Amino acid sequence: MGLLERKTEPPKCPFCGQLIDPPRPVEDDPFFEFDGGACSCGAAYCFDPTARNGGAVMLQAMVQACHGDWDRAQNLSLGLDYVEGFVTRYSALTHRVNAPGAFGTIYFIRLKSKK
Ligand SMILES: [Zn+2]
Repeated sequence: MGLLERKTEPPKCPFCGQLIDPPRPVEDDPFFEFDGGACSCGAAYCFDPTARNGGAVMLQAMVQACHGDWDRAQNLSLGLDYVEGFVTRYSALTHRVNAPGAFGTIYFIRLKSKK
């Protein structure tokens, strides 16, 4: 087995382990510029194909998690209000992780339930 050989696999939600659907245009808000989606566990995700847009993609994932509420999204605290997760080396072409040459990142945000 060569060092560069990696097993590709479909992307999974880092919070619940379910397979996720390929990121697609999110229609909720006209300002959303990245593809994303939602997991049935309540996590929102957003895909950065370039590995350069990190902050903007993460913010969109947070706004998606807040159902389009930008003000609320920008006032959330990591660990207190939400948890974050990542899937790296994702290829949107094949919808696989660890694909050769894949360097996309999917950002996941899940809000903690308020008690
Ligand atoms: Zn999930």
